[in-house]
Amino acid sequence: MPDRGIASVLISEQEIRTLVKNLGLEITRHYRQTGGDLLVVGLLKGSFIFMADLIRNIEYPLTVDFLAVSSYCDSTISSGEVKMRMDLQTPLQGRHVLVVEDIVDTGQTFQKVIGLLKSRNPVSVKTCTLLSKPSRREVAVAIDFCGREIPDEFVCGYGLDYAEKFRNLPYVGVLEASST
Ligand code: 5GP
Repeated sequence: MPDRGIASVLISEQEIRTLVKNLGLEITRHYRQTGGDLLVVGLLKGSFIFMADLIRNIEYPLTVDFLAVSSYCDSTISSGEVKMRMDLQTPLQGRHVLVVEDIVDTGQTFQKVIGLLKSRNPVSVKTCTLLSKPSRREVAVAIDFCGREIPDEFVCGYGLDYAEKFRNLPYVGVLEASST
């Protein structure tokens, strides 16, 4: 695989902090109204940094769990087929579930995951994503809490990778175009 770098910063550390803070406020407001047990489910690996920051901005009692799925056949093109790599350890019955994703692209992953979680009879399932690329959508998915819509660019950083690299960047950047 050819080496590719980051072409430009799309969302700075400061902007990420503001987006996450605002999402935390919205989510807090929502669950204070509904009440009940809240389980926040992070989709690995991409959401792990966002998830860690987000839950510290939610002022409502919660528990966390993680689900690992993968859909990419090479590093930037989705295969469209979503495979379960690691399941939850928490039963969903009697709980409100908030699914946390790093980025919604075609919508295939979110659609499959939401269907799976709903089949386990939680009280409710809501969705939260830091980023969304609406121009790439193939299936309609309801996003209840969205940080920011972005154009059709492949982005890395703040948990998002290219071939497992760049997850540790504190900002979200656009991947350099392939030279081949
Ligand atoms: P979808 O199923 O919506 O097409 O894809 C969702 C998953 O694809 C995300 O969780 C993420 O792992 C990956 N993905 C989609 N767009 C990007 C992107 O621009 N950058 C990175 N690093 N991953 C992406």
